[in-house]
Amino acid sequence: MKVLVLNCGSSSIKYQFIDTASKTALAKGMVERIGMSSAILTHQPHDREKIKIVGEILDHTIAIEYVIAVLLSPNHGVIKDKKEIDAVGHRVVHGGETFSGSVLITDQVMKALKDNIELAPLHNPPNIKGIQATKEHLPSTPQVGVFDTAFHVKMPPRAYLYGIPYELYKKYKIRRYGFHGTSHRYVSERAATIIGKPLEQLKIITAHLGNGCSMAAVDGGRSVDTTMGFTPLEGLIMGTRSGDLDSSVILYIMAKEGLSLSEANTLLNKHSGLIGISGESSDMREIEEAVVEGNKKAKYAFDVFTYRIKKYVGAYTAAMGGLDALVFTGGIGENSIAVRKDVCTNMEFIGIKFDELANQNVSGECSISSSDSKVNVLRIPTNEELVIALDTELIVTEQFSLKQSASVK
Ligand code: ADP
Repeated sequence: MKVLVLNCGSSSIKYQFIDTASKTALAKGMVERIGMSSAILTHQPHDREKIKIVGEILDHTIAIEYVIAVLLSPNHGVIKDKKEIDAVGHRVVHGGETFSGSVLITDQVMKALKDNIELAPLHNPPNIKGIQATKEHLPSTPQVGVFDTAFHVKMPPRAYLYGIPYELYKKYKIRRYGFHGTSHRYVSERAATIIGKPLEQLKIITAHLGNGCSMAAVDGGRSVDTTMGFTPLEGLIMGTRSGDLDSSVILYIMAKEGLSLSEANTLLNKHSGLIGISGESSDMREIEEAVVEGNKKAKYAFDVFTYRIKKYVGAYTAAMGGLDALVFTGGIGENSIAVRKDVCTNMEFIGIKFDELANQNVSGECSISSSDSKVNVLRIPTNEELVIALDTELIVTEQFSLKQSASVK
């Protein structure tokens, strides 16, 4: 099946056109600066040069029209007819408590997505716009929603409830949701395949470390806890987000600095984390370079970042009552030799025997623990788009066979 995978943000759309049989992207690209006269479409077919088109793209409907047009283009495209797009899979950020798995988009699902807007006011509206725009251009093509939150929805109440009045959970749905679920699910499944044991028998900690960072405790294939919470702000230190914080700190800063709610929100989400502590950069590569140059604040930022990951490795091992594998993924997890080393140093007590040489020479999916390590430490590149394409194929195929069996009856 050929699936168009869309990740629609407020001013950008990332896309991949994936052939699920070969599990490869036939083309990928991005539309940026939607709503502006100088929007940019970057398109990369798998077998030809990357191209860049600049022009006016005023909304998501026009952006998706351009994406379809470039997929059809005689010079840069990979299909000859719109009908070759068998299905469309959307990354949807927040499924609330409603969705614990991927779903075929129906009117009922659209209503539930709209009901969840309050939980993700920045992310769900552009996701919804993307679905509506796709429907305009491909009215008879099935669309599937794959949620960032779905993998975590079934964690136990002891992990998702906060220590606030229970009525507030009931009234406003304030609980831990967790994000990056597609990535945590994918790398934990890959880890089981690499280890050669059924996922159901494994206790795995997955660390997705990119610009946004989160960890998950995956026990028997199920997420039983995760570091991000009601929003993606909680948990690990990130490029620009604070992660865990005594809630009183923000009240104190607001009072001292006279900050409004929205200014406080910006402080925690955009000016904290690596950039906040270092004052240098939100980019781990630049933090590492500054550390080498002897920059003290960059070193603090690096140390706080890795120390918190280490603490969660301990916490989640205790939560699951053991650990079989620790997985690093995301831009930092896949590429930072220094971060992986710092997290895994002095962890023999937990069963991690780290292989320094393997850590320095990683490629693709690989182990960075020694052969006699009780815990497998793995580097697994994530592939959220592939998961979205495969989920889409599964759901569309199921739906098709349901319809067929109904018509036979
Ligand atoms: P996003 O969460 O936006 O998808 P990525 O997963 O691409 O982001 O991760 C971006 C992060 O990965 C940045 O902090 C970047 O510095 C870091 N990164 C990429 N390559 C390296 C590297 N070689 N060493 C250290 N950090 C790296």
